Amino acid sequence: MRIAILSRNEKLYSTRRLKEAGEALGHTVDIIDTLHCYMDITSSRPAVRYYGEALPKYDAIIPRIGASVTFYGTAVVRQFEMMGTFSINESVAISRSRDKLRSLQLLSRKGIGLPRTGFARYPDKIDDLLKNVGGAPVVIKLLEGTQGIGVVLAETRKAAESIIEAFMGLKANILVQEYIKEAGGADIRCLVIGDKVVAAMKRQAAPGEFRSNLHRGGSAELIKLTPTERKTAVQAARAMGLNVCGVDILRANSGPVVMEVNSSPGLEGIETATGKDVAKLIFEFIEKSAKPNSTRTKGK
Ligand code: ADP
Ligand code: GLU
Repeated sequence: MRIAILSRNEKLYSTRRLKEAGEALGHTVDIIDTLHCYMDITSSRPAVRYYGEALPKYDAIIPRIGASVTFYGTAVVRQFEMMGTFSINESVAISRSRDKLRSLQLLSRKGIGLPRTGFARYPDKIDDLLKNVGGAPVVIKLLEGTQGIGVVLAETRKAAESIIEAFMGLKANILVQEYIKEAGGADIRCLVIGDKVVAAMKRQAAPGEFRSNLHRGGSAELIKLTPTERKTAVQAARAMGLNVCGVDILRANSGPVVMEVNSSPGLEGIETATGKDVAKLIFEFIEKSAKPNSTRTKGK
């Protein structure tokens, strides 16, 4: 098959690994810089142009769209969908996953375990907002944050009020969330492909830190999931409409709770921690799923 990886940087581990794994399986794999794609969006025969030429008709694309280029990146993915190219994750599902609030609302509608979460812009009664999620300690998050930046633990009601007031002053949208203390600074990244968790790792926060992001100094190791955790991760992926994603789960007393679902999960941490060839599994999924004109959304 002829497959394109949409990526801003061919040197990134995930991009390199995907190309290598696809070629090892006998596919032709091109790396296309998403932001350099351009297109006539009004043409009745949609095409994507790149450095002065129309790109060939790909059987499938693997979008690796960074959070900062979601808007343009999903437009490019949508154009491929309109050409009938199979995208491992559809443009609408990627947009959906990039909005934390929208994601939580969709997951909640499907009855998936979540930490109690409030959403606010100018809460007139901060104490009521706090009471609604069970009171301090709470985790306060900037809606637009990534990699753990803009995620703050407020241990007391006073601290929570000051932080919320400060964010209000910045005109930011915020999430106020029950603090899952019993997770002990650990979260579980489940790599879902299709309807299976193919690899899972536990990330442990650095001492004195509650955020387990590897970018925040967390460390990763292999972990065995419970059947409930597997089921939760697969249900979360399905609720978001993502075929390939990373589902982050915390072990709460009430059972697994989903933190977030990532539509361009990095492969380095999970392949290193688990020894699994995730890149190859992604191509095997494409081989099974990509039929010409098999995208359902066509950008709708
Ligand atoms: P980001 O999207 O920036 O990574 P997250 O919402 O995933 O932000 O939070 C970063 C990390 O902080 C999580 O991986 C988790 O370890 C920790 N964390 C976030 N929310 C909570 C919570 N409600 N209770 C306990 N720990 C949390
Ligand atoms: N088609 C809708 C969209 O624009 C679905 C809404 C949703 O489930 O997020 O994404």
